[in-house]
Amino acid sequence: MCVFCKIVAGELPAKVVYEDDLIMAFHDINPRKKVHVLVIPKKHIPSLNDLTEEDKEVMGHLVVKIPEIAKKLGIAEDGYRVIVNTGRHGGQEVYHVHFHLLGGEPVGPMTC
Ligand code: AMP
Ligand code: ZN
Repeated sequence: MCVFCKIVAGELPAKVVYEDDLIMAFHDINPRKKVHVLVIPKKHIPSLNDLTEEDKEVMGHLVVKIPEIAKKLGIAEDGYRVIVNTGRHGGQEVYHVHFHLLGGEPVGPMTC
């Protein structure tokens, strides 16, 4: 089982900020900004490259929930950055789709 599936299963601890039937959001273990939360589908999907038509509902739901999670974290008004690293060139380390939600301070210019 992958590390994020273990968090979904409750086998690994996480600081959960939001959870429903389809998705989960928890604090990154190695935060790069004041607020750094990962938003994931509960379903194990290795990367964006593996998405199928079947995943439309869960992924649409996930994206729509991001501003709600940002509001809950108190970072929505000032803004935030959402990043999805994909594959080797994208710098993906954990092969379970996740959206990085970064904010709580200026995130700086996009360097790539
Ligand atoms: P990526 O490079 O896009 O695959 O990002 C993986 C992210 O997962 C990194 O920011 C890690 O710090 C984070 N991470 C890895 N293991 C855990 C964990 N057990 N709990 C929370 N975040 C984690
Ligand atoms: Zn997984």
